[in-house]
Amino acid sequence: MDKRIVIVTGAAKGIGKAIAQRMINDNYITILVDVDEKKGESLANKLGRLAKFLACDISNKNEVNSLFKTVVNEFGHIDVVVNNAGIISDNMIWKMPVENFDKVIEVNLKGTWLMCKAAGTLMREQKYGRIINITSRAWLGNIGQSNYSVSKAGVVGLTRVLALELGKYGVLVNAIAPGLIDTPLTQKLPQDIQEKLIQAQPIKSIGQPEDIANVVAFLSDDSTQFITGQTIYVDGGKSIGAGL
Ligand code: NAD
Repeated sequence: MDKRIVIVTGAAKGIGKAIAQRMINDNYITILVDVDEKKGESLANKLGRLAKFLACDISNKNEVNSLFKTVVNEFGHIDVVVNNAGIISDNMIWKMPVENFDKVIEVNLKGTWLMCKAAGTLMREQKYGRIINITSRAWLGNIGQSNYSVSKAGVVGLTRVLALELGKYGVLVNAIAPGLIDTPLTQKLPQDIQEKLIQAQPIKSIGQPEDIANVVAFLSDDSTQFITGQTIYVDGGKSIGAGL
């Protein structure tokens, strides 16, 4: 049987790094994708023979198309695509320059859409595949994130549409909505803000990148056959409120 192939975007650090590590442990040939070439290359070298780094800006159509071409030329097929790359640029709407809205939509929504278009087109022909989009609990609404929440709400909608379009071709499309996860992105938050966010969850601790990687592994596994179009919250219960 052919080796299973997975692409993970935003794999140079944080959640993407944990996903890449987990997929390698599960014996996938793992294509780490990132704009950060230095970190991506050095991580792939550390992860060993199942890891390969390819530089790609997911918001650039030509780079995304060439990424898929390179992987298919080398391996012949792709089993799983994990769209994890994402950015934030927070501010209240009255202070947010329109450029910050554009930038976040460009990467988080358009970039994920471009990756889904390339993956969906290929997987439809293969009659097999899994697309896993990393959205955020913040799609439900977060102060200061009128750009980010909107981009992640778009990813939930995209996931549902693609589940409808691709289901009959054997392609399953799901999303994972992380809550507060301990990564370089959230480590920049002041300690008191982190503590406030933790106290607003039923589970009073911060999530680990591996909590997301576990769910990616479950959704990617061949034994998972009847779940599509869903958004799975991995957020310490934040999406149901703190129960105060
Ligand atoms: P991070 O900033 O630690 O890592 C993101 C990675 O994506 C970086 O390596 C970065 O270089 C890469 N990247 C950025 N723009 C890119 C582009 N255009 N093309 C390719 N790669 C690009 O972030 P993280 O905390 O690990 O978050 C990963 C994903 O999880 C993001 O989509 C984020 O929105 C989502 N998320 C994170 C949290 C959290 O608490 N950390 C919560 C909810 C959702």
